Amino acid sequence: MKEGVWNEEAVCLLVLVMVLLCAMGAASADDCQHEFALKDCTYDRYCSKCEQWITRNTAHSWGSWRSGTGPSHVRSCTNYQCEAVDGGAHTGGTATCTDKAICDGCNLPYGEVDPDNHDWDEWYSMGSDKDHGHGRRCTRDPRNHYEFEAHTGGNPTCNVSAICTTCDQAYVDVDNHGGNATTNWAPYEHDNTRHIKLCEGCKFVVDRAPHDYSTATCTTPATCPDCKATSGDVDKTNHTGGTEIRNQVDAGEFTEGYTGDTHCLGCGDKLADGQSIQAIRLQLCGNH
Ligand SMILES: [Zn+2]
Ligand SMILES: [Zn+2]
Ligand SMILES: [Zn+2]
Ligand SMILES: [Zn+2]
Ligand SMILES: [Zn+2]
Ligand SMILES: [Zn+2]
Ligand SMILES: [Zn+2]
Ligand SMILES: [Zn+2]
Repeated sequence: MKEGVWNEEAVCLLVLVMVLLCAMGAASADDCQHEFALKDCTYDRYCSKCEQWITRNTAHSWGSWRSGTGPSHVRSCTNYQCEAVDGGAHTGGTATCTDKAICDGCNLPYGEVDPDNHDWDEWYSMGSDKDHGHGRRCTRDPRNHYEFEAHTGGNPTCNVSAICTTCDQAYVDVDNHGGNATTNWAPYEHDNTRHIKLCEGCKFVVDRAPHDYSTATCTTPATCPDCKATSGDVDKTNHTGGTEIRNQVDAGEFTEGYTGDTHCLGCGDKLADGQSIQAIRLQLCGNH
């Protein structure tokens, strides 16, 4: 038993010595924090501390892409004491109204958003009048990106609709009286000094204005040319339409003539009497 115990202690001591020797050997080689003058892992490099040549890597171990200065991407080698950098300009991708372009090379966003590159939804009608128009929203930011415009196309009036060529909905143009509709003048019921023009299509008052009476004549009372309303009576002192001579009689050898009466061609009234004309024989005598 005693002999066996001694042998066990000897073995333990032997193992301890071997472990120490091994540890000393490792410290002088594998555990060196190598120091390389050349900061590139793809070359065989000499360590100035452990004085060994360390075998090169076949390639750099690139880290993930990050943005460089300017519109570029860069990545660095992650290997020990390697300062190799890879990089290039961002390229490709398409900016939208909400997102920057994604670079084909690094998959990072770059540049600015494009405020004009929306993803428009369908147009929808916002009402049946031309000015209500139609609108649409951007699917990327419907709250903030939208636009409106008037309905367009066809020839709508206040009561005849057309189909909008943009939103495909029927609409009218409440300000377009006439066109397909007709207009007429309606009498102004409570005031004979003015007239009203109503649209037949929608009864909208297109115009309201004082009568513009013409001057009364012997045949026509004062009349508004727009609504044909009249005021007062004919004016027998304002004859119109020219005159003609009636009941004219030429003088004869022995018979008296007559210059004729002047009549108004408009109303026929006699305006002036004529005068008698001496017989020709008497005229000749008078001259001698
Ligand atoms: Zn070293
Ligand atoms: Zn490297
Ligand atoms: Zn990039
Ligand atoms: Zn948008
Ligand atoms: Zn429309
Ligand atoms: Zn109308
Ligand atoms: Zn009138
Ligand atoms: Zn007259």
